[in-house]
Amino acid sequence: PDIAKDQIALEEARRFAGREHGLFIDGTWREPRTGAGFDTFNPGDGSALGQVALGGEADVDLAVRAARAALDGPWGEMKPSERARLLWRLADAIEARVEEFALLETLNNGKPLRDARLFDVPHAVETLRYNAGWTTKLGGETVNLSGPGTWHAYTVREPVGVVAAIVPWNAPLAMAVAKMAPALAAGCTLVLKPAEQTPLTAIKLAHLVEEVGFPKGVFNLVTGVGEMAGAALVAHPGVDKVTFTGSTEVGRLIIKAATGTMKRVTLELGGKTPVIVMPDADISRAIEGAARSIFTNAGQICNAGSRLFAHESVFDALVEGVCDFASRLRVGPGLDPTTQMGPVVSAEQKARVLSYIEAGLRDGARISGQGTAADGPGYFVPPTVLTGTTPQMSVVREEIFGPVLCAMSFSDGDLNAIAAQANDTEYGLGAVVWTQNLSAAHRLARKLKAGTVRVNGGGLDPALPFGGFKQSGWGRENGREGIEAYTEVKSVAIAI
Ligand code: NAD
Repeated sequence: PDIAKDQIALEEARRFAGREHGLFIDGTWREPRTGAGFDTFNPGDGSALGQVALGGEADVDLAVRAARAALDGPWGEMKPSERARLLWRLADAIEARVEEFALLETLNNGKPLRDARLFDVPHAVETLRYNAGWTTKLGGETVNLSGPGTWHAYTVREPVGVVAAIVPWNAPLAMAVAKMAPALAAGCTLVLKPAEQTPLTAIKLAHLVEEVGFPKGVFNLVTGVGEMAGAALVAHPGVDKVTFTGSTEVGRLIIKAATGTMKRVTLELGGKTPVIVMPDADISRAIEGAARSIFTNAGQICNAGSRLFAHESVFDALVEGVCDFASRLRVGPGLDPTTQMGPVVSAEQKARVLSYIEAGLRDGARISGQGTAADGPGYFVPPTVLTGTTPQMSVVREEIFGPVLCAMSFSDGDLNAIAAQANDTEYGLGAVVWTQNLSAAHRLARKLKAGTVRVNGGGLDPALPFGGFKQSGWGRENGREGIEAYTEVKSVAIAI
């Protein structure tokens, strides 16, 4: 399976993965205080890639103290344009090593190498550059007061302080940078805890942070497991803000843990994105769009289009098209250049996805189309299209986080009824509409309870706010909102 474009680069990535990795705290690499490590795996074949430091409470404490010292020291004093220069240097350094990052991401997460090259790594680079631009543009406003007296009043935006960033395994580098870039651009300092399944690109990122010359303590990396390092970060009184991407279940735990010290919290959680196909849609584009939306990254995308709602007049054609897409998808190890869909991240995730498919069948759903999971020891799951699903089934209500689509039809053209069906979920991250009718597109966009509504395709962009309504999260990432979430507003009123 190891048919990478460049065997030497692949060997180099494997060597990097197999090195002894410490924790990056206060500008130096250290042994964890726990004295322990944990294995990290290749989901493409189940093999161990290497050992990573198991950070614990004492390590988190050191990292938070280092982040505080940097905030109170050189970083807090640095001109915004200097922060921008460092962020650009980091972006350039990552861009110069796209292949190294992509190979590591594929080795550790399993995704097709092509996806890592074309999406994950470039997205991280763009996110750094986009946020670098904000460093010099963040400001406040002058305010006219109506009370008695004569005042000069204004607001300023200050960095919120020390940020703890806890990220998942589905897009490890892109998620880490989605938090790091606005946090550092806003003038905060950071402790990053990558997911235990996929720590390798975060470790590589820390090496580049060191190389491009950020002051010590600005960016700290504590690898480890959620219940230890993650929980210790959320509980630490020296952390001012927690920014988290992951499951809604852990998001709830974080909210509870953060109340003790009233930390600021941003949460990007799960989703159950509806894909609505109107009768006037461009069907061939809708088929491809719907299929890519659920099968990209083996469905392990918070915003994956996991519920398809198609008008009855186009339903059969659509389902047939998506089933055909699924049956032709080449599922295999991410390093194989012919692979179009990789494995899921772990044996546990594979078992979870398969158990959802079984539950759907037990509840009365049917498999209308299914691809073939590759043979071998990797964690492969067949891309699957379910029909005959009803709103109460667990496959329709719960986030599967795998390549499983529930296809349903509607007969009524009433937009309120269509939106109500799509909104019948506790999630509210995304929604997709396929239509050629401009007014239906705008009207649905207003009615859908989702943080992002996409019409006829579209993707993530660092400039476009992203986040969830309802139980899909708190706050927004990306865009102006994204960076403002790392600031506190201070009002100053001066009696003249
Ligand atoms: P997860 O919630 O299990 O873990 C996410 C992170 O939280 C990991 O780093 C983990 O170590 C840490 N963690 C676990 N328990 C913790 C605790 N008690 N305290 C502090 N940290 C803890 O999620 P996952 O399985 O890694 O990722 C999949 C989930 O992420 C899905 O639900 C998906 O929808 C969501 N996700 C959301 C977005 C978004 O932007 N909304 C993007 C990607 C993934």
